[in-house]
Amino acid sequence: MTTALTFTHLPHPAPVSAEDRAARLVDPGFGRVFTDHMVTIRYTEGRGWHDAKVEPRAPLSLDPASAVLHYAQEIFEGLKAYRTDDGGVCLFRPEANAARFRLSARRMGMPELPDELFVGALEELVRIDRDWIPGGDGSLYLRPFMFANEVFLGVKPSSEYLFITIASSVGQYFKNKAEAVSVWVSQDYTRAAPGGTGAAKCGGNYAASLLAQAEAIAHGCDQVVFLDAVERRWVEELGGMNVFFVFDDGSLTTPPLGGTILPGITRDSIIRLAQDAGLEVRERPYSLDDWRADAASGHLREAFACGTAAAVTPIGTIKSGQGDFTIGNGGSGSVTQGLRTALVDIQRGRAPDRYNWVRRVI
Ligand SMILES: *Cc1c(COP(=O)(O)O)cnc(C)c1O
Repeated sequence: MTTALTFTHLPHPAPVSAEDRAARLVDPGFGRVFTDHMVTIRYTEGRGWHDAKVEPRAPLSLDPASAVLHYAQEIFEGLKAYRTDDGGVCLFRPEANAARFRLSARRMGMPELPDELFVGALEELVRIDRDWIPGGDGSLYLRPFMFANEVFLGVKPSSEYLFITIASSVGQYFKNKAEAVSVWVSQDYTRAAPGGTGAAKCGGNYAASLLAQAEAIAHGCDQVVFLDAVERRWVEELGGMNVFFVFDDGSLTTPPLGGTILPGITRDSIIRLAQDAGLEVRERPYSLDDWRADAASGHLREAFACGTAAAVTPIGTIKSGQGDFTIGNGGSGSVTQGLRTALVDIQRGRAPDRYNWVRRVI
Protein backbone atom coordinates (compact mmCIF):
# COMPACT_ATOMS: atom_id res chain seq x y z
CA MET A 1 0.00 0.00 0.00
CA THR A 2 1.37 3.44 -0.96
CA THR A 3 1.55 6.02 1.78
CA ALA A 4 4.10 8.31 0.14
CA LEU A 5 1.50 10.20 -1.87
CA THR A 6 1.96 13.78 -2.91
CA PHE A 7 -0.97 16.11 -3.35
CA THR A 8 -1.56 17.43 -6.86
CA HIS A 9 -2.54 21.10 -6.69
CA LEU A 10 -5.38 22.33 -8.87
CA PRO A 11 -6.09 25.81 -7.44
CA HIS A 12 -9.52 27.31 -7.95
CA PRO A 13 -9.53 29.35 -11.20
CA ALA A 14 -12.09 31.82 -9.81
CA PRO A 15 -12.01 31.88 -5.99
CA VAL A 16 -14.48 34.01 -4.01
CA SER A 17 -13.33 37.65 -3.99
CA ALA A 18 -11.84 39.12 -0.82
CA GLU A 19 -14.80 41.47 -0.50
CA ASP A 20 -17.39 38.72 -0.87
CA ARG A 21 -15.48 36.48 1.52
CA ALA A 22 -15.32 39.22 4.16
CA ALA A 23 -19.11 39.62 3.93
CA ARG A 24 -19.63 35.88 4.43
CA LEU A 25 -17.33 35.86 7.46
CA VAL A 26 -19.23 38.57 9.35
CA ASP A 27 -21.70 36.12 10.93
CA PRO A 28 -20.90 32.69 9.52
CA GLY A 29 -23.00 30.59 11.93
CA PHE A 30 -22.11 26.90 11.81
CA GLY A 31 -21.63 24.77 8.69
CA ARG A 32 -23.06 27.06 6.02
CA VAL A 33 -20.05 29.00 4.75
CA PHE A 34 -17.58 26.87 2.80
CA THR A 35 -14.11 27.62 1.49
CA ASP A 36 -12.88 27.54 -2.12
CA HIS A 37 -11.13 24.16 -2.04
CA MET A 38 -11.38 20.55 -0.95
CA VAL A 39 -8.91 17.69 -0.71
CA THR A 40 -9.74 14.32 -2.25
CA ILE A 41 -7.99 10.95 -2.10
CA ARG A 42 -9.24 7.78 -3.75
CA TYR A 43 -8.97 4.17 -2.67
CA THR A 44 -9.33 1.15 -4.90
CA GLU A 45 -8.95 -2.43 -3.74
CA GLY A 46 -5.69 -3.87 -5.06
CA ARG A 47 -4.27 -0.42 -5.77
CA GLY A 48 -4.57 1.29 -2.41
CA TRP A 49 -4.68 5.06 -1.87
CA HIS A 50 -4.12 7.17 -4.95
CA ASP A 51 -4.94 10.45 -6.72
CA ALA A 52 -4.47 12.83 -3.79
CA LYS A 53 -5.61 16.28 -4.91
CA VAL A 54 -6.20 19.78 -3.65
CA GLU A 55 -8.94 21.00 -5.97
CA PRO A 56 -11.83 23.48 -6.26
CA ARG A 57 -14.74 22.57 -3.96
CA ALA A 58 -17.51 21.41 -6.28
CA PRO A 59 -20.53 19.09 -6.37
CA LEU A 60 -19.72 15.41 -6.78
CA SER A 61 -21.01 13.22 -9.52
CA LEU A 62 -22.15 9.89 -8.07
CA ASP A 63 -23.64 6.88 -9.74
CA PRO A 64 -27.08 6.21 -8.20
CA ALA A 65 -25.90 2.69 -7.37
CA SER A 66 -22.96 3.97 -5.29
CA ALA A 67 -22.88 1.76 -2.21
CA VAL A 68 -23.00 4.61 0.33
CA LEU A 69 -26.41 5.73 -0.92
CA HIS A 70 -27.87 2.34 -0.03
CA TYR A 71 -25.94 0.88 2.89
CA ALA A 72 -24.49 4.01 4.53
CA GLN A 73 -20.87 2.89 4.66
CA GLU A 74 -19.59 6.33 5.68
CA ILE A 75 -17.44 7.83 8.45
CA PHE A 76 -16.35 11.36 9.29
CA GLU A 77 -14.28 13.52 11.60
CA GLY A 78 -14.52 17.08 12.86
CA LEU A 79 -11.79 19.39 14.13
CA LYS A 80 -10.90 23.06 13.98
CA ALA A 81 -8.05 25.26 12.77
CA TYR A 82 -7.56 28.25 15.07
CA ARG A 83 -5.89 31.55 14.38
CA THR A 84 -3.38 32.44 17.07
CA ASP A 85 -2.68 35.93 18.41
CA ASP A 86 0.67 36.07 16.57
CA GLY A 87 -0.99 35.45 13.19
CA GLY A 88 -0.25 31.72 13.01
CA VAL A 89 -2.71 28.88 12.48
CA CYS A 90 -2.91 25.77 14.65
CA LEU A 91 -4.73 22.45 14.70
CA PHE A 92 -5.71 20.81 18.00
CA ARG A 93 -4.64 17.15 18.36
CA PRO A 94 -5.13 16.22 14.68
CA GLU A 95 -3.24 12.94 15.24
CA ALA A 96 -6.01 11.91 17.65
CA ASN A 97 -8.60 12.51 14.92
CA ALA A 98 -6.48 10.52 12.48
CA ALA A 99 -6.32 7.59 14.90
CA ARG A 100 -10.06 7.73 15.60
CA PHE A 101 -10.76 7.88 11.85
CA ARG A 102 -8.83 4.63 11.46
CA LEU A 103 -10.80 3.00 14.28
CA SER A 104 -14.07 4.15 12.73
CA ALA A 105 -12.93 2.76 9.37
CA ARG A 106 -12.06 -0.60 10.90
CA ARG A 107 -15.48 -0.90 12.56
CA MET A 108 -17.23 -0.07 9.31
CA GLY A 109 -15.20 -2.51 7.22
CA MET A 110 -13.39 0.28 5.39
CA PRO A 111 -9.69 0.71 4.58
CA GLU A 112 -7.61 2.69 7.08
CA LEU A 113 -6.22 5.96 5.77
CA PRO A 114 -2.61 6.36 6.99
CA ASP A 115 -2.31 9.12 9.61
CA GLU A 116 0.19 11.12 7.55
CA LEU A 117 -2.29 11.33 4.67
CA PHE A 118 -5.10 12.34 7.00
CA VAL A 119 -3.07 15.09 8.68
CA GLY A 120 -1.48 16.02 5.35
CA ALA A 121 -4.94 16.61 3.84
CA LEU A 122 -5.86 18.91 6.74
CA GLU A 123 -2.66 20.90 6.41
CA GLU A 124 -3.00 21.27 2.64
CA LEU A 125 -6.55 22.59 2.97
CA VAL A 126 -5.78 24.97 5.84
CA ARG A 127 -2.82 26.42 3.94
CA ILE A 128 -4.65 27.03 0.68
CA ASP A 129 -7.83 28.38 2.37
CA ARG A 130 -6.18 30.20 5.28
CA ASP A 131 -7.93 33.47 4.40
CA TRP A 132 -11.24 31.81 5.32
CA ILE A 133 -10.36 31.52 9.02
CA PRO A 134 -12.51 34.12 10.80
CA GLY A 135 -11.01 36.34 13.48
CA GLY A 136 -12.28 36.68 17.04
CA ASP A 137 -14.03 33.61 18.45
CA GLY A 138 -14.41 32.03 15.01
CA SER A 139 -12.44 29.16 13.54
CA LEU A 140 -12.19 26.97 10.47
CA TYR A 141 -14.13 23.74 11.00
CA LEU A 142 -12.53 20.88 9.07
CA ARG A 143 -14.67 17.97 7.99
CA PRO A 144 -12.77 14.92 6.71
CA PHE A 145 -15.05 12.09 5.61
CA MET A 146 -14.94 8.90 3.59
CA PHE A 147 -17.63 6.87 1.86
CA ALA A 148 -18.15 3.74 -0.21
CA ASN A 149 -18.45 4.54 -3.90
CA GLU A 150 -18.36 1.17 -5.58
CA VAL A 151 -21.22 0.92 -8.08
CA PHE A 152 -22.78 -2.28 -6.80
CA LEU A 153 -25.96 -3.18 -4.91
CA GLY A 154 -24.58 -6.34 -3.31
CA VAL A 155 -24.26 -6.14 0.47
CA LYS A 156 -20.53 -6.24 1.27
CA PRO A 157 -17.74 -3.78 2.11
CA SER A 158 -17.16 -1.61 -0.95
CA SER A 159 -14.05 -2.12 -3.09
CA GLU A 160 -13.75 1.64 -3.72
CA TYR A 161 -13.80 4.68 -1.46
CA LEU A 162 -13.56 8.44 -1.71
CA PHE A 163 -11.92 10.42 1.10
CA ILE A 164 -12.67 14.14 1.09
CA THR A 165 -11.90 17.02 3.41
CA ILE A 166 -13.95 20.21 3.21
CA ALA A 167 -13.72 23.30 5.42
CA SER A 168 -16.32 25.66 6.83
CA SER A 169 -15.79 29.06 8.44
CA VAL A 170 -17.69 28.99 11.73
CA GLY A 171 -18.65 31.26 14.61
CA GLN A 172 -20.25 30.11 17.84
CA TYR A 173 -22.06 26.73 17.70
CA PHE A 174 -24.99 27.53 19.98
CA LYS A 175 -26.27 30.84 18.74
CA ASN A 176 -26.96 33.26 21.61
CA LYS A 177 -25.95 30.49 23.97
CA ALA A 178 -22.93 31.73 25.80
CA GLU A 179 -24.94 30.56 28.81
CA ALA A 180 -26.33 27.13 29.65
CA VAL A 181 -28.19 24.87 27.21
CA SER A 182 -31.24 22.75 28.00
CA VAL A 183 -31.39 19.05 27.20
CA TRP A 184 -34.21 16.56 26.57
CA VAL A 185 -33.77 12.99 27.84
CA SER A 186 -34.87 10.58 25.13
CA GLN A 187 -36.67 7.63 26.70
CA ASP A 188 -38.14 6.17 23.50
CA TYR A 189 -35.02 6.14 21.35
CA THR A 190 -31.46 5.02 21.96
CA ARG A 191 -28.33 5.97 20.05
CA ALA A 192 -26.07 2.93 20.29
CA ALA A 193 -26.26 -0.62 21.59
CA PRO A 194 -23.47 -2.91 22.83
CA GLY A 195 -21.72 -4.41 19.82
CA GLY A 196 -23.04 -1.65 17.58
CA THR A 197 -21.34 1.38 16.06
CA GLY A 198 -21.59 3.84 18.97
CA ALA A 199 -17.82 4.29 19.24
CA ALA A 200 -17.39 4.86 15.49
CA LYS A 201 -17.95 8.33 14.08
CA CYS A 202 -20.30 7.22 11.32
CA GLY A 203 -23.14 9.10 9.70
CA GLY A 204 -25.53 6.28 10.54
CA ASN A 205 -25.32 7.09 14.27
CA TYR A 206 -26.47 10.59 13.48
CA ALA A 207 -29.26 9.40 11.20
CA ALA A 208 -30.56 7.33 14.11
CA SER A 209 -30.39 10.33 16.47
CA LEU A 210 -32.24 12.90 14.37
CA LEU A 211 -35.77 11.98 15.41
CA ALA A 212 -34.80 12.18 19.09
CA GLN A 213 -33.08 15.51 18.42
CA ALA A 214 -36.26 16.78 16.71
CA GLU A 215 -38.20 15.67 19.80
CA ALA A 216 -35.78 17.68 21.96
CA ILE A 217 -36.39 20.79 19.86
CA ALA A 218 -40.15 20.19 20.03
CA HIS A 219 -39.85 20.21 23.83
CA GLY A 220 -38.00 23.51 23.73
CA CYS A 221 -34.56 21.98 24.35
CA ASP A 222 -31.27 22.56 22.54
CA GLN A 223 -29.98 18.99 22.57
CA VAL A 224 -31.00 15.40 23.23
CA VAL A 225 -29.41 13.17 25.92
CA PHE A 226 -29.34 9.44 25.32
CA LEU A 227 -29.60 6.69 27.93
CA ASP A 228 -28.02 3.26 27.54
CA ALA A 229 -29.89 0.87 25.25
CA VAL A 230 -29.99 -2.08 27.69
CA GLU A 231 -31.40 -0.71 30.95
CA ARG A 232 -32.49 2.74 29.75
CA ARG A 233 -31.06 3.98 33.00
CA TRP A 234 -27.49 5.24 32.53
CA VAL A 235 -26.67 8.58 30.96
CA GLU A 236 -24.50 8.04 27.89
CA GLU A 237 -23.99 11.23 25.89
CA LEU A 238 -25.67 13.93 23.85
CA GLY A 239 -26.37 13.55 20.13
CA GLY A 240 -22.89 14.80 19.27
CA MET A 241 -21.20 15.71 22.55
CA ASN A 242 -19.92 13.94 25.66
CA VAL A 243 -21.14 14.87 29.12
CA PHE A 244 -19.54 15.61 32.52
CA PHE A 245 -21.01 16.08 36.01
CA VAL A 246 -19.38 18.27 38.67
CA PHE A 247 -20.06 17.63 42.37
CA ASP A 248 -19.93 19.75 45.52
CA ASP A 249 -16.55 18.27 46.52
CA GLY A 250 -15.08 19.45 43.20
CA SER A 251 -14.88 15.95 41.69
CA LEU A 252 -16.09 15.07 38.20
CA THR A 253 -17.87 12.07 36.75
CA THR A 254 -18.19 11.17 33.07
CA PRO A 255 -19.75 8.01 31.60
CA PRO A 256 -17.12 5.35 30.79
CA LEU A 257 -16.19 4.46 27.22
CA GLY A 258 -17.45 0.98 26.57
CA GLY A 259 -18.23 0.81 22.89
CA THR A 260 -21.51 2.71 22.99
CA ILE A 261 -20.05 6.17 23.61
CA LEU A 262 -18.03 8.17 21.12
CA PRO A 263 -14.51 8.66 22.54
CA GLY A 264 -14.38 12.46 22.29
CA ILE A 265 -11.01 14.14 21.98
CA THR A 266 -12.43 17.06 23.96
CA ARG A 267 -13.58 14.56 26.62
CA ASP A 268 -10.08 13.10 26.81
CA SER A 269 -8.52 16.58 27.00
CA ILE A 270 -10.91 17.69 29.77
CA ILE A 271 -10.05 14.60 31.83
CA ARG A 272 -6.35 15.47 31.57
CA LEU A 273 -6.86 19.15 32.36
CA ALA A 274 -9.11 18.41 35.33
CA GLN A 275 -6.74 15.82 36.79
CA ASP A 276 -3.76 18.13 36.38
CA ALA A 277 -5.74 20.85 38.16
CA GLY A 278 -6.01 18.46 41.11
CA LEU A 279 -9.62 17.43 40.52
CA GLU A 280 -10.70 13.82 40.84
CA VAL A 281 -12.26 12.44 37.65
CA ARG A 282 -14.28 9.24 37.75
CA GLU A 283 -15.20 7.38 34.58
CA ARG A 284 -18.20 5.51 35.86
CA PRO A 285 -21.88 5.02 35.01
CA TYR A 286 -24.22 7.73 36.26
CA SER A 287 -27.98 7.21 36.19
CA LEU A 288 -30.76 9.60 35.28
CA ASP A 289 -32.24 8.95 38.75
CA ASP A 290 -28.98 10.02 40.42
CA TRP A 291 -28.79 13.04 38.15
CA ARG A 292 -32.23 14.17 39.29
CA ALA A 293 -31.64 13.36 42.99
CA ASP A 294 -28.17 14.95 43.09
CA ALA A 295 -29.45 18.10 41.40
CA ALA A 296 -32.26 18.32 43.99
CA SER A 297 -29.96 17.75 46.98
CA GLY A 298 -27.30 20.15 45.73
CA HIS A 299 -24.65 17.39 45.65
CA LEU A 300 -24.45 18.01 41.88
CA ARG A 301 -23.28 21.54 41.27
CA GLU A 302 -22.65 21.71 37.52
CA ALA A 303 -22.97 19.66 34.35
CA PHE A 304 -21.52 20.34 30.94
CA ALA A 305 -21.38 18.97 27.42
CA CYS A 306 -18.15 18.94 25.44
CA GLY A 307 -17.04 18.42 21.87
CA THR A 308 -15.10 20.15 19.12
CA ALA A 309 -18.02 22.15 17.76
CA ALA A 310 -19.10 23.82 21.01
CA ALA A 311 -15.97 23.25 23.18
CA VAL A 312 -17.42 23.19 26.72
CA THR A 313 -21.06 24.17 27.20
CA PRO A 314 -22.89 24.24 30.55
CA ILE A 315 -26.14 22.28 30.88
CA GLY A 316 -28.76 24.13 32.91
CA THR A 317 -32.13 22.42 32.58
CA ILE A 318 -33.00 18.77 31.99
CA LYS A 319 -36.44 17.87 30.67
CA SER A 320 -37.96 14.41 30.32
CA GLY A 321 -41.26 12.58 30.20
CA GLN A 322 -40.97 12.31 34.00
CA GLY A 323 -40.62 16.00 34.67
CA ASP A 324 -37.97 18.68 34.53
CA PHE A 325 -35.17 19.70 36.86
CA THR A 326 -32.48 22.36 37.00
CA ILE A 327 -28.86 22.17 38.13
CA GLY A 328 -27.68 24.80 40.60
CA ASN A 329 -28.74 28.23 39.43
CA GLY A 330 -29.41 26.88 35.93
CA GLY A 331 -26.38 28.65 34.55
CA SER A 332 -22.68 28.11 34.34
CA GLY A 333 -20.45 27.15 37.27
CA SER A 334 -16.86 27.95 38.10
CA VAL A 335 -15.44 24.45 37.40
CA THR A 336 -17.07 24.38 33.94
CA GLN A 337 -15.82 27.88 33.16
CA GLY A 338 -12.33 27.11 34.43
CA LEU A 339 -12.01 23.98 32.29
CA ARG A 340 -13.43 25.77 29.27
CA THR A 341 -10.93 28.59 29.60
CA ALA A 342 -8.03 26.20 30.15
CA LEU A 343 -8.95 24.25 27.00
CA VAL A 344 -9.67 27.22 24.74
CA ASP A 345 -6.48 29.02 25.83
CA ILE A 346 -4.39 26.03 24.75
CA GLN A 347 -6.31 25.67 21.46
CA ARG A 348 -5.74 29.36 20.67
CA GLY A 349 -2.08 29.34 21.63
CA ARG A 350 -2.67 31.69 24.59
CA ALA A 351 -1.50 29.18 27.22
CA PRO A 352 1.60 26.95 27.24
CA ASP A 353 1.05 23.69 25.38
CA ARG A 354 2.25 21.35 28.12
CA TYR A 355 0.77 18.26 26.47
CA ASN A 356 2.04 18.83 22.95
CA TRP A 357 -1.55 19.03 21.71
CA VAL A 358 -1.16 21.95 19.32
CA ARG A 359 0.15 21.45 15.80
CA ARG A 360 1.25 24.61 14.09
CA VAL A 361 0.35 24.66 10.36
CA ILE A 362 1.25 28.23 9.44
C1 LIG B 1 -17.70 13.86 17.49
C2 LIG B 1 -18.56 13.43 18.63
C3 LIG B 1 -18.29 13.80 19.96
C4 LIG B 1 -17.20 14.76 20.36
O1 LIG B 1 -15.93 14.38 19.95
P1 LIG B 1 -14.75 15.44 19.91
O2 LIG B 1 -13.58 14.68 19.44
O3 LIG B 1 -14.60 15.96 21.29
O4 LIG B 1 -15.19 16.51 18.97
C5 LIG B 1 -19.11 13.28 20.96
N1 LIG B 1 -20.14 12.47 20.67
C6 LIG B 1 -20.44 12.13 19.40
C7 LIG B 1 -21.60 11.24 19.15
C8 LIG B 1 -19.67 12.59 18.35
O5 LIG B 1 -19.97 12.25 17.10
